[in-house]
Amino acid sequence: MRKYNGSSQVLVTGGAGFLGSHLCDRLIERGHHVICADNFFTGSKNNIEHLMDHPRFELVRHDVTLPLYVEVDEIYNLACPASPVHYQHDPVQTTKTSVYGAINMLGLAKRTRARIFRASTSEVYGDPACHPQPESYWGHVNPIGPRSCYDEGKRCAETLFFDYHRQYGVDIRVARIFNTYGPRMHPNDGRVVSNFIVQALRGEPITVYGKGQQTRSFCYVDDLVEGFLRFMDLEGPCPAPINIGNPGEFTILALAEQVIKLTGSRSKLVFSPLPVDDPMQRRPDITQAREQLHWEPTVQLTAGLKKTIAYFDELLGTGVVKADG
Ligand code: NAD
Ligand code: UDP
Ligand code: UDP
Repeated sequence: MRKYNGSSQVLVTGGAGFLGSHLCDRLIERGHHVICADNFFTGSKNNIEHLMDHPRFELVRHDVTLPLYVEVDEIYNLACPASPVHYQHDPVQTTKTSVYGAINMLGLAKRTRARIFRASTSEVYGDPACHPQPESYWGHVNPIGPRSCYDEGKRCAETLFFDYHRQYGVDIRVARIFNTYGPRMHPNDGRVVSNFIVQALRGEPITVYGKGQQTRSFCYVDDLVEGFLRFMDLEGPCPAPINIGNPGEFTILALAEQVIKLTGSRSKLVFSPLPVDDPMQRRPDITQAREQLHWEPTVQLTAGLKKTIAYFDELLGTGVVKADG
């Protein structure tokens, strides 16, 4: 049951991943006890190493496709590979992670009467015909393509969340997350921001898929996690899903040029075919987040990229940031 005074026991699934580890930091800062459950498929102990000796932090190696019995007040269900390269590596496991993972975490929330947050995604809109995307848009998803394991798994998980709410009164918060970047993305993550920065820092070719005219809207991780916390704090009747993302929209080509400029790299662009079903445009309508959560992003792309570049520069030992002062 959600506590209103004192520190709560909070479960974060996928807590050793990129977003999950930043969320664990914020929850610890807020005075909560945090149980981080992760199977380390894409996550890393390095992301949470600094928390390992903290008296209010506990790490459990666990796969969310299996039941988990712990006593908790709140659950953040983030476990799922997020990069297309990783979620397509074992697509059956990806669907299982979303669907069985949702069932197990909802069963846990039902038994403990914990409020439960779900990391859903802008991919529920597929290759959107409606632009920008409001939460009321039902999406344009290929149910049988290579991205479906992720998109349809996430859509089914949303269905389960709303059915557990209607059928059992489970207290749910479903966030549709748009592309997010920042420190602690894995250098081999495969997503565009980390790929471009790592390639630029190493002086390797920048791999642009298609002509680079497709767009994405990039949110800095600190802004996103603030949105999660505000959503979880929201009281009142069960809210509909809420988009959390940065509405600043850029072509992939513009992102590549920006990364080259900020790193001072001599890397050249190389073009390869656009992956199947790659969405051509994506931008959140964040009216609901503004009105209900009083949230909007504060970090502009250039500022967020500079912090992320500094992180990778140190991690990879490329010395680009230091050399430039
Ligand atoms: P990530 O790959 O860095 O983190 C995912 C974490 O989940 C990893 O630590 C991984 O080991 C863990 N995991 C995967 N399968 C698991 C399983 N079966 N059992 C337990 N742990 C498992 O990705 P991220 O960017 O931190 O994404 C976190 C969540 O946010 C995911 O649910 C993702 O779909 C969602 N999301 C992220 C973005 C984004 O741009 N970062 C956008 C939309 C949605
Ligand atoms: N579950 C869990 N932890 C709990 C309670 C339930 O992992 O503390 C899992 C359990 O494996 C179950 C699933 O959540 O299969 C769904 O639970 P629910 O109570 O909805 O269904 P049932 O137990 O009746 O199948
Ligand atoms: N992309 C790219 N080069 C890369 C990685 C990705 O051009 O090295 C493109 C990809 O085709 C997509 C966009 O960048 O159009 C965002 O890709 P990402 O994998 O980061 O996220 P998603 O497609 O899930 O939004």
